[in-house]
Amino acid sequence: MPPGGAIWLGVTALKFVSTRGAAPALDLADVTLAGLARDGGLYVPAEWPVFSSAQITAMAGLSYADLAVEVMMPFVGDTIARDDFSGLVRSAYASFDHRAVTPLRQSGPDEWVLELFHGPTLAFKDCALQLLGPLFDHLLQRDGSRVTIVGATSGDTGSAAIEACRDRDALDIFILYPHGRVSEIQRRQMTTVESTNVHCLAVAGTFDDCQALVKAMFDDTAFRDRHRLSAVNSINWTRIMAQVVYYFHAALALGAPGRAVAFSVPTGNFGDIFAGYVAAKMGLPIASLCIATNRNDILARFMADGVYQVHEVMPTVSPSMDIQVSSNFERLLFDLMGRDGAAVTALMSDLRTSGRFSVSENVLTQARGLFSTGTVGEEETLAVIAQEWRETGVLVDPHTAVGIGAGRRHRQDGVPLVHLATAHPAKFPEAVERATGVRPALPARLADLTTRAERFDVLANDLGAVEAYVSDRARAA
Ligand SMILES: *Cc1c(COP(=O)(O)O)cnc(C)c1O
Repeated sequence: MPPGGAIWLGVTALKFVSTRGAAPALDLADVTLAGLARDGGLYVPAEWPVFSSAQITAMAGLSYADLAVEVMMPFVGDTIARDDFSGLVRSAYASFDHRAVTPLRQSGPDEWVLELFHGPTLAFKDCALQLLGPLFDHLLQRDGSRVTIVGATSGDTGSAAIEACRDRDALDIFILYPHGRVSEIQRRQMTTVESTNVHCLAVAGTFDDCQALVKAMFDDTAFRDRHRLSAVNSINWTRIMAQVVYYFHAALALGAPGRAVAFSVPTGNFGDIFAGYVAAKMGLPIASLCIATNRNDILARFMADGVYQVHEVMPTVSPSMDIQVSSNFERLLFDLMGRDGAAVTALMSDLRTSGRFSVSENVLTQARGLFSTGTVGEEETLAVIAQEWRETGVLVDPHTAVGIGAGRRHRQDGVPLVHLATAHPAKFPEAVERATGVRPALPARLADLTTRAERFDVLANDLGAVEAYVSDRARAA
């Protein structure tokens, strides 16, 4: 705890409301366990808690774990005792293999790389999931019950979720991933985990198919209630909340609140960058947020003309961003549309029936006030990896390279630019080697990954087949 006690002085817990406006308001404990709202929407706080400049100044110099407690406390309130929450946070970030948890590395004049890949599975998703697993366990222990966690992954969420939930008696976890469309390292990080509560389902389809199957399971209320379904993918508010912390951590190190900082964020499902938006809402001075995309560029196209139009997903060297329907974007829309749940529901229904929706000029203007965009193609991604290697001697992964390439186009003099490094280069060795001729090595603790035995089942892209598979194995009833 900082000298003088807690920074946030509010006591009661914030309530959370659905972006579709037709689900009950819940506190953090129930939102964590529920994942998706019953009306199909996503939970967001009923209002944004705002830190004063003095409160942000008081956060300077805190360790990552201490800062994490302060930043998340407004959402936790009295739903979890501060000491208990603090214990959960401390053990979550003790699993990282860097003392700073998310170190900032300077990569150029007033340019920085925020390394978010020092957790157990080498991707930024550990930053949230290492907390979410223990938090689930803590909340379930209160009422002695079990839940069934179901998630879709384009690669990195799966292993990070599995690491967070493995061997926990209150949880069974089922992870759907697109068969043949995740890297070998990503697949092996999921399929070589020996825990009996872990189930890997290779679905014959794309990531969007997997995500649609997960949504369909949640929409099947009888199935959902029978197995107490819960989610750990980035629709879960608690993941967003945990990701807000590293925006504060980086900005404080670079002079916030006295100086505003710009961030460039490689984006897929809009979870990571939405956490940056939340940080700005909470009072952190953020000059701009760059939505960096690969050639799956639905968000960049939307920011150009206000039309959200789904195209085919194209495979890229940054597969964790090979996404067209960007779930967390709904959270931003809700805010930009004056928190009108009915209006958001109408857009989402347009999207379902016609594969597109459009917004007013007013909504678009607001979005452009904080967000910029940049699309980085395959060649340019490899060129950025090569350039970073040549000019700084550091290997970066292809997702990080997309962020660097896009962020640089919007550099403003005098504003520190932070690139979020979302994965360790050894998670995507083929692309890195193609760009530089150098094959990045896995950390020693993962060195035998490619020889461990795998365990997974291949399933058709069919809701009935997937539900039957889960029903046969889930213990929650
Ligand atoms: C998940 C992921 C992303 C995209 O993050 P979102 O929160 O889905 O926008 C980017 N890079 C890597 C390495 C990832 O694993």
